[in-house]
Amino acid sequence: MTTPPATERDPRAQPAEGAAEARLRRVERELLDAGRELSCLHRELEAQRERSKQERAEREELLSVVSHELRTPVTVISGYGKLLLSEEVGPLNAEQRKFLEESQKSCRRLDAFIEKLLVASEASRGHDVLELGRARLAPVLQGVAEMFRPMLDEGDLRLSLDLAAEPTEARFDRVRLEQVLANLVGNAVKFCGPGGSIEIATRAVETPDDPLVPRWVEISVCDDGPGIAPGDRARAFEPYVQLGGSGGRSGGGLGLGLAIVKRIVEAHGGRIDLEERVGGGCCFRFTLPLDAPRPQESS
Ligand code: ADP
Repeated sequence: MTTPPATERDPRAQPAEGAAEARLRRVERELLDAGRELSCLHRELEAQRERSKQERAEREELLSVVSHELRTPVTVISGYGKLLLSEEVGPLNAEQRKFLEESQKSCRRLDAFIEKLLVASEASRGHDVLELGRARLAPVLQGVAEMFRPMLDEGDLRLSLDLAAEPTEARFDRVRLEQVLANLVGNAVKFCGPGGSIEIATRAVETPDDPLVPRWVEISVCDDGPGIAPGDRARAFEPYVQLGGSGGRSGGGLGLGLAIVKRIVEAHGGRIDLEERVGGGCCFRFTLPLDAPRPQESS
């Protein structure tokens, strides 16, 4: 729309038009400023996106190198362990054999863990393929507790198992469950000070007595260490996140442990939560399908 020449205008309309024009110019200026600010923000966002992409690629690369570099020494350690166990280089007493067998078990777990790290470092993360089977939980939990025995003794830590309410069987991938527990107990060991205590417990989750409703078992790993601040709890499960923690320690990991734990639990259909332990410390609770035989299934 074109503005009529000033001479043709109604003089009474002039102040109103002048004010409208001034408003229009102000709005135009504001729009211009906002546009400039927006394109500035856009450029910043793009740069940040590019930086994050690059950082992520570098981390993936580092992780992949670290995993591969770890694998070689683990293979060497395991190879020497096997050689010693074969007694080709000399006889072993019962205690030496037991220690070597424990160290071999840890080598196997470490190797499986490295494998998982490699999987986690792949940019395109597919679905976890689980080797599910129905099995008792107690031997797995006891095995993990045994695996940490030397570290617990060294750190003057106590680990107790409360399996009183343990359902007989659950449906899970044993290697992956060991990995979940090793991560959670490993963190507890890392963050608890000397004299600290860790508890692993199981309980059946209450569900309606309906054969169509899936049943679950809850496994908890609690410690009386420094805990995680409430505002940081959700972030703790994100990949590459390390928190200072109330104790101000990050533990020297990659910040991947809990992200992997969450993925494995969710691949089982379960969920994991982090709560504060009564009296301070962390309490990680996760669920696994119970999959006990239902009345109509039993033969
Ligand atoms: P990392 O592999 O580096 O240990 P995690 O994903 O396992 O990383 O843990 C992420 C962060 O959560 C850790 O850096 C630590 O600050 C915190 N955290 C995990 N477990 C515990 C715990 N039991 N007590 C205190 N802090 C913990």
